[in-house]
Amino acid sequence: MTDLHSPAHAAALDAADPLPSLRGEFLIPKHRDREQTYFVGNSLGLQPRGARAHVEEVMDKWAMEAVEGHFTGQAQWMPYHELVREPLARVVGALPHEVVAMNSLTANLHLMMVSFYRPTRERPAILIEAGSFPSDRYAVASQIAFHGFDPDTDLIELQPDEPGGLISMESIERAIAQHGPRLALVLWPGVQYRTGQAFDLDRIVQLAHAQGAVCGFDLAHGVGNLELALHDSGVDFAVWCHYKYLNSGPGAVAGCFVHERHAHSDRPRFAGWWGHETSTRFCMGPQFVPTPGADGWQLSNPPILGLAPLRASLDLFDRVGMRALCEKSRRLTGYLESLIRDRLSDTLDILTPSAPEQRGCQLSLRVIGGRGLTGRPAGRALFDYLAEHGVLGDWREPDVIRISPAPLYNTHVDVLRFTEVVEHWRRG
Ligand SMILES: *Cc1c(COP(=O)(O)O)cnc(C)c1O
Repeated sequence: MTDLHSPAHAAALDAADPLPSLRGEFLIPKHRDREQTYFVGNSLGLQPRGARAHVEEVMDKWAMEAVEGHFTGQAQWMPYHELVREPLARVVGALPHEVVAMNSLTANLHLMMVSFYRPTRERPAILIEAGSFPSDRYAVASQIAFHGFDPDTDLIELQPDEPGGLISMESIERAIAQHGPRLALVLWPGVQYRTGQAFDLDRIVQLAHAQGAVCGFDLAHGVGNLELALHDSGVDFAVWCHYKYLNSGPGAVAGCFVHERHAHSDRPRFAGWWGHETSTRFCMGPQFVPTPGADGWQLSNPPILGLAPLRASLDLFDRVGMRALCEKSRRLTGYLESLIRDRLSDTLDILTPSAPEQRGCQLSLRVIGGRGLTGRPAGRALFDYLAEHGVLGDWREPDVIRISPAPLYNTHVDVLRFTEVVEHWRRG
C-alpha cells in the first residue's frame, strides 16, 4: 500500500478539497454505530436537513390557513412551483420558462411524446439505446402502439458496440444516418443507468435534427450529476426525476424541459387546467388556452408536500453551482477509479468509460470471474458483503454493482472505505 492510499491521505484530500463538503447538510443513515458509506445517490439521494422544515411549513400552513394557504402569506401554494423554477433552470442550464416541476418522470415522458412524437407512415420510428430503463421502453413501445404502429419494427434499439455495454458516438451517428428518414424521435439518456456512460448530448441533438427527427432526453441519471446546458443543446424536450441526485425524497415531483422555440407551440397536447393561461385560468372557461413555455404542459395543481423538499435540495445546489460540483465529482470518482486500478484490478472490472466527459459520478463494476465456483454469483456475494459492512451500492441484474460517489455528501474517506472492504472480502 502506498502512502497515497492511506486513510490519512484520503482525509487530507477531503480537508484540502477546493469545494468544502456539504455532507453536514444531509442526514446520513447509520450502520450499527457508525455512518453508512452511502453510494446510492443514483437511486435515492439522502435527505437534506432543510427538507423537514419546508414540509412542516406546508403542514402548518394547511393547519392554520386551510384553503387560504393558496393565496396568503409566505410560500403560497398557488404559485408554489415558481419557488423552484429558477434554481432548477440553473441546474439543467435552461431559461426559467423552459422548465417546470410536475408529475413523475414516466408521466412527463408520455406527455412530452404526446406532443413531440407525431409518427407518420413514412416516419414512424423511435430510436433508443438497447437495455434502456424498462419504464422508458414501456412508455415508448406503448406510444408507438397507441398510434397504430408496430414496436417490433418501429422501436429501434441501438445495441452496444463496445465492451461493457458501451455505445460509441460513431455507432450513434451510423444509426441516426441509417434510419434517418424513418426517425420521428431520438430519445437518449444523459447518463445510461446501467453502465454510467454519459453522452455528447449536443452532438446527438444535431444529428437527430439534421435528419428531421425530434430529439428528447431522459435525464434521470444526468440531472444534478452532469453540467447540463439544455437550452444551448437545442434539444426539444427533456424529462427527469428529483429523487436521485436531486435528493428530494421518494417519489418526489419530477422535472420537465421544453425548449423555448416550442413555448408557443400549437402541437397537440394533453391539457389540464393548470396548463391554462394563468390570468384567465380561474375564469373557468370551456376553451383551453395554453400558458406559454413548459408550464403549458401542466395538468393539475401540484402536490405541494411533494414539492417542498425540492426547495431544500435546490438551495444546496445553488450554494455550490453545477460547475464546481462536477469538478469535485471528477476528483472523487477519479480517486475511486485509481484505487480500483491500483488495488483491486484482479477483482473488479470497471464498465464505465474512463474519460471524465463520458461519465458522471457513477462507476459500474463487475466482479472478475463473476460466476463463483459455488454457484453463488461472486458479484452478488461481494455486494452483500459490502452491505453487511455498511457500504451501500446497488445491484443491477445480472452482475453489475453500481457505486456512485455523490459530490454533495460523499468523501474521499468513503471511497477509500469501499476499497478496503472489497480487499477484506477478497482475503476471505
Ligand atoms: C429512475 C428512472 C426512471 C423511474 O421512473 P419514474 O417514473 O420516476 O418511476 C425512469 N427512467 C429512467 C432512465 C430512470 O433512471
